[in-house]
Amino acid sequence: METLRIQARFIVASPQEIHHPGQLVIRGGTIIEVTPKTHLPADVELTHHALLPGLVNCHTHLEFSDLASPLPAGGSFPEWIGAVVGRRRELSRLQTVKQGIEHTQATLARGLEEVFSSGTNVVGDIVSMPWQPSWLPAAPAVLPTPFATPRQLPALVPLVSVLGEELPAELLQLHLGGQRAAHVVAFPELIGLDTERLNATCQWAQQLLQAPAPAGVEQLGVSPHAPYSLTLAPVLEFLNRLPRSVPRAMHVAESLDELEWLAHGSGPFRDAFERLGVPLDAERPQIEHCIDLLSGSDRALLIHGNYLTSHNIDQIASSGGTTTVVYCPRTHLHFGHRPYPLKQLLKAGVPVVLGTDSRASTPDLDMLAELRALREQHPWLSPETALAMVTSTAARALGLERIHGTLAVGKRAAIAVASISETCSKATLLESLLSGPS
Ligand SMILES: [Zn+2]
Repeated sequence: METLRIQARFIVASPQEIHHPGQLVIRGGTIIEVTPKTHLPADVELTHHALLPGLVNCHTHLEFSDLASPLPAGGSFPEWIGAVVGRRRELSRLQTVKQGIEHTQATLARGLEEVFSSGTNVVGDIVSMPWQPSWLPAAPAVLPTPFATPRQLPALVPLVSVLGEELPAELLQLHLGGQRAAHVVAFPELIGLDTERLNATCQWAQQLLQAPAPAGVEQLGVSPHAPYSLTLAPVLEFLNRLPRSVPRAMHVAESLDELEWLAHGSGPFRDAFERLGVPLDAERPQIEHCIDLLSGSDRALLIHGNYLTSHNIDQIASSGGTTTVVYCPRTHLHFGHRPYPLKQLLKAGVPVVLGTDSRASTPDLDMLAELRALREQHPWLSPETALAMVTSTAARALGLERIHGTLAVGKRAAIAVASISETCSKATLLESLLSGPS
């Protein structure tokens, strides 16, 4: 079979283009046709399903994917960070270097498996020193277990696991062989309030960026961690040497504690720094500086932005769409932040996408659950805009719009499948997907 023609009850090529029923043709991992149903016989018919672009999760830290449940939000944001860092230290104290790497490798594999099995094909992952691309798992030799009946499913699964029941393994390998695992956009993290540590992370990131593109990594960016965890001058010096095409990502305006520290040098961050013996006299970057730093790249992610002011939002908008804000709805709820400024961001024309953040602040890495939390928090949002935030807009934010984000000719066959109810119509499809099982 030179090509694979799949017919499905619905094909959501993009939030604006739904075929009912539709056909999609794949050849060697690439989509070569997407149409309403034709007279040509399909190789596979999925009569109770909708095909969607594989979702894109713009922000997580896969290294915490071994956590069974989120760490409690605690009394302050630095307290939670302390718990995350403390857990990492405790693990490395108990393990040899080799055991530590093996543990991280197993954790990354587990996280990627969780991401992929819930219908997400691309994940923006913040990686910390000494992460290496070789720590990522090879694509699994065995295909994910096919499901028996739609009722047993999570709501979204990768196409390859649905077709596992229908087609011989060699055909799947031929047409979907490249889509057996989620792909990573890795952002090496620059962090350190002391110059030595900060420079070490810059050098490590530099080496990663200079190496040939590794397998499993779709793209490499760089992530200055947050305005409270680094000094700006050395980071800017490093970033200014990089081409504008290298994506940047930074946690900005995440908590009120951060804003208090940046504006006044007081509050829980000051207490934490005093306890740790961190010198308190260094210049503190302001939110405006971080937005500026991000606008130095053609693709930048401002992560969280929970407490962006209207002035900040105007400044982001003036980047002309190169900076995208990443909203993590369930993490936002976990910390009990003030209502998210989604309406203001969208009104100003700022692209907004979704991320799960890590399992240290969210119960799992399921993007459909994030979408549903988004809709619950912002019921005014159209399902089309919501879906774009995890597909087309998200792929663009990571610089992958040529190969991901919609089901279109020439793009990767990165496809998610939803099982749908009998009563679903073209008009109600997206709404029912986003509102969850009834
Ligand atoms: Zn994060």
